[in-house]
Amino acid sequence: MMFRGIASARPAARWTAGRAARRAWEVLREEGVRSLVFKVLGETVYRRALVFERTLDEAGRAPVSMRRLDGGRTIGTLEPGDLDPYLALAPDADPEEVLGRLREGRVAVVVRRGAAIEHATWLATGSAHIDYLDRRVRLAADEGYVYGVRTAASARRRGLSIAAADEVAAWAAASGLRRLRLVVMPENRAAAAAAPRWGYRRVGAARTLRLGRWRWHLGWVGGDPGAAGGPGSARSSVPEGSAPAAPSPAPALVPEGRGRAAPSPAVPAAPWTRLRWTAFTARHALRDPRLPWRPLSAVLAIQARRARALAAHAWESVPAVREAMEAAGMEPGDVRTADDLWALPRVTGDDLLASPERFASSRFRDGDVLALRSSGTGGRPKTVRYDPAALFLALAQGQRQRAVFARFVGRRGGFREMNAQRADSVGHQLRRFWEERSWVPRGVDLERSWLPMELGFEAAHARIEAERPHVLQGYGSYLGALYRWAIERGRKVHRPRLIWYGADRMADADRELIERELGVPVVSTYQADEALRIGFQCDLRQGFHLFVDAVAVRVVDDAGREVGPGESGRILISNLTNRATVLLNYELGDVVTVGRGPCPCGRSLPTIERIEGRADDALVLPDGEERHSIPVVDALQGVPGVVRVQVVQESLERFEIRTVCAAGTEWGAAARGLERALRGFVGEAAGIRVERVEAIAPEPGGKVRGVVSRCRRAR
Ligand SMILES: [Zn+2]
Repeated sequence: MMFRGIASARPAARWTAGRAARRAWEVLREEGVRSLVFKVLGETVYRRALVFERTLDEAGRAPVSMRRLDGGRTIGTLEPGDLDPYLALAPDADPEEVLGRLREGRVAVVVRRGAAIEHATWLATGSAHIDYLDRRVRLAADEGYVYGVRTAASARRRGLSIAAADEVAAWAAASGLRRLRLVVMPENRAAAAAAPRWGYRRVGAARTLRLGRWRWHLGWVGGDPGAAGGPGSARSSVPEGSAPAAPSPAPALVPEGRGRAAPSPAVPAAPWTRLRWTAFTARHALRDPRLPWRPLSAVLAIQARRARALAAHAWESVPAVREAMEAAGMEPGDVRTADDLWALPRVTGDDLLASPERFASSRFRDGDVLALRSSGTGGRPKTVRYDPAALFLALAQGQRQRAVFARFVGRRGGFREMNAQRADSVGHQLRRFWEERSWVPRGVDLERSWLPMELGFEAAHARIEAERPHVLQGYGSYLGALYRWAIERGRKVHRPRLIWYGADRMADADRELIERELGVPVVSTYQADEALRIGFQCDLRQGFHLFVDAVAVRVVDDAGREVGPGESGRILISNLTNRATVLLNYELGDVVTVGRGPCPCGRSLPTIERIEGRADDALVLPDGEERHSIPVVDALQGVPGVVRVQVVQESLERFEIRTVCAAGTEWGAAARGLERALRGFVGEAAGIRVERVEAIAPEPGGKVRGVVSRCRRAR
């Protein structure tokens, strides 16, 4: 108990080795050894938490969705569409993180009253993070971890937490779990007193000792219930917990789910690693703004050099490229320029999906690369591995488009940018990788904030009004639909200095509306999961200048012949910078129009005029609000067994889900899961038909639309 005061010492996040050493030296010089010893003790944190357990019998009743409680309340599970009421209950929660948990299949039992959520209890399996101990624990296969218990202040003392505890136990038993655990801070007397009423008994304590960034987990005090091997075995099957019960502020929500998306460590890389990539990025970023103005021949010389180096690398370490080169009768020495790579067999997204490992280089270990995971606008998840040099080069190459934005924004850096992204988007994964492995000086970087696309337009509008960003960035279809929604309703709406979209296309009508009604310029960039930067619009906005130094581009007709200026065709790329997954002569699935000649702006980089075949529809909800297709598709895509999915909205209240499932999928469960996921967005009253199909026909551009809304078309 005497340590408790120390437990609040200082957060580990602030601690760095460099700072600690510097501080120790100062203290030693100015205050002497004795003082230093006490200061070190001050860096030491000891924490102890109480562990409770509830055992489940196999006869646990089945969970009852939407069961009725007293006072018109119902009990059920949290759905993605419940985000707004959940945030009203837990205002400090990170909405993206919450949605990430749901996507991972975590369950939160909630008590609803009308539109409000009055209580929530979360259940985790697999692993979890005990915030209070700053410790991640792996759960045994039959173990669940209960956390994030909250009750609205107005609904306390009505037995909601007891009802929720029973419901959680029923869910857990139905999922094959045998026991549930929760962890309570000793200070949280209310929670410690409530746990027995929820059916839990105290089984011990978990302790952590931390000095700076080193941690020792001291296992259990008191009997370990799992017990077979004593405290030693407890390490692998420790519970998790967090601080249940309302009185304490909710535990800081840790992004537990991200591990799957980005295998990179969640902690900052070592200082020398960060120094190295910071210097690398700075070197390239300094000269990047000038590159578009250099003679095209000089840029193509860089392209050719990268093509040669990549061919040699891939020949040695990438099976698919080696085979392709052998099939084409080529050796690395035959690759003189990037154009020589078009002789290789064409690779499609299906090839990559079918065997991603064949396109991966054996020279990179999992921990060294970013496995960029995307659900894509095409309704199919995809993973492309990137090596750090390719990622930091892409970061540096942002400078040439930043130079364009500066004309509209008035400055190069230090402005506020708001990014409309979905949880766990490619943008988040990249940003996290960059931030973990480099330092970006303040003033050079932007002040960034996130606008979760899962929010309804009402909430998104409120966030934009509150933040008033200089630049608003995100999916074109989403930002276009959001601003149209606001303008058509006569809402007062913030006018950023620039709206910048990528990922998918903003409808021309939406762009014109924004520029005409608000006077806000709209510019676009072109990128893909397979090549992080492909094109950017200059201030003339007549087309997209291509990043030809990093990616070779070719546009072909259906017969594979290169098309001329002003003509349309399929875009093929060779990503010349990424060595972790090597994609040469790769068909992106977009239809583009080749630029008609040099851009009047004077930049030498060639252009494409238009990108087509990327538009996705929004769903129109029964109350008239619109919801972008991507979170809907994401939620459906999360149902086990689902490979591809498309939602067709026939009328306001009538939906059809078409899905391609993996072989061996239990269809009944998948169909129920899909229906439940869609109901989270469209409500209980809507008519939903779920159909299993062999394939979903792509658009002319080659991409499958995730959502087709006949309602929206008809308006
Ligand atoms: Zn231009």
